[in-house]
Order: sequence, then C-alpha cells, then structure tokens
Amino acid sequence: MPNYSFRCRSCGDTFEVNRPMAQSSDPASCPAGHDDTVKLLTTFATVGRGAAPMPAAQPAGGGCCGGGGCC
Ligand SMILES: [Zn+2]
Repeated sequence: MPNYSFRCRSCGDTFEVNRPMAQSSDPASCPAGHDDTVKLLTTFATVGRGAAPMPAAQPAGGGCCGGGGCC
C-alpha cells in the first residue's frame, strides 16, 4: 500500500498515511486532529513494505555541513 506524506498547515507537523491509491487524494487529519493538511509529493521508487523512503532522510553524515568541514 502506498505511503503518502501530509503536512498540517495548522501545527506544521508532517505525518505519513498508508492508504490505497484510490484514496490518495482524500483529505487526512494530522495526529493532532487538524484538518487543514496538504499532501506532499513523495517519490516512492520502492513500492514495498519496510522500504526506506529516501536516502536524504538519513539523520547525520553525508552531504554538506554534515561534519565534512565544507563550511
Ligand atoms: Zn496539526
């Protein structure tokens, strides 16, 4: 089942929802209960369970200012 990311415009929180593709454009409520949410574009190159979404989501290391002394 695809994983969709939403962002709440009320509290700024981002959250993910697993839902069928047929309901991809349905509104979603944020964990705090706000309804003013927007769907974020997600690139799911891997459609499968437990797949790591994006390499850029790694917490530390890699890239600029990750301790490489580039700044
Ligand atoms: Zn919210």
